[in-house]
Amino acid sequence: LAGRVALITGGGGGIGMATAERFLTEGACVMLADINSDSLKTAENTLINKFGKDQIRSIVMDVTDEVSVGNALAEISVEFGGIDILVSNAGIASSAPLEETTLELWQNNMEILSTGYFLCSRETFKVLRKQKLGGSIVNMSSQMGHVGGPIRSVYNMNKFGLEGLTKGMSIDLAKYNIRVNTVCPTFVVTPMTKKFLKNKKFKRDMLNNIPLGRFAELSEVASAVVFLASDAASMITGTSLLVDGGWTAK
Ligand code: NAD
Repeated sequence: LAGRVALITGGGGGIGMATAERFLTEGACVMLADINSDSLKTAENTLINKFGKDQIRSIVMDVTDEVSVGNALAEISVEFGGIDILVSNAGIASSAPLEETTLELWQNNMEILSTGYFLCSRETFKVLRKQKLGGSIVNMSSQMGHVGGPIRSVYNMNKFGLEGLTKGMSIDLAKYNIRVNTVCPTFVVTPMTKKFLKNKKFKRDMLNNIPLGRFAELSEVASAVVFLASDAASMITGTSLLVDGGWTAK
């Protein structure tokens, strides 16, 4: 990824920040984008301490807000002269039993996990098309984009939808040499999942679903993103890379 420029949404958090760290190790320039300005600053400072300032920028961005997403794309062009890679990763996990799933919860999930991914892809595509240099979009989906899960119907719907968005876009963008794929992790311990995994029974049940017998490491998810973003995956588009320890093999 040497010399490549990447926008990473949700870059202030678990998988986004770990991916940014791996991209920086691989020589990419990274713009972290997140709605949470505090965690964004902390992530940026941590990475600057390790890698120096040259390759790292950050911007407060709400993936559900068209103007905010457009601003981030404008900013990355000003700071790094363009963009090569979008890692669309920002997300929430707020599932509930069906009867307790309010319309507000449903719509909030849709906004962040579907509208947000659409807006980030569309705005990135506009820049990539102008540049005429190809590119790669990696959408952070989930094993829950391939199989159903308990009290996960809202999340399932959005991640299955993201798989569809990815496949559709991959066909439309192929003529621009822009590849679009998803990475689909099983559970990874991040701020998002810590709250669920505190429940010992839930944790044991989830581990029982994973033939490899453990949760994924952040670095294992980041490796999959690096692969799909890089030229090593130059013939791969419209597909998913499952980092699920075998969950969906059963
Ligand atoms: P996280 O909570 O650690 O990080 C998510 C980040 O997204 C946070 O920093 C948050 O501030 C940001 N964000 C939320 N709403 C936003 C918005 N509107 N605009 C911009 N940023 C916003 O979560 P994570 O576990 O690192 O999850 C990242 C992605 O990975 C999500 O899409 C999630 O669905 C997916 N995923 C996670 C797991 C897991 O086990 N952690 C498994 C499969 C898939």
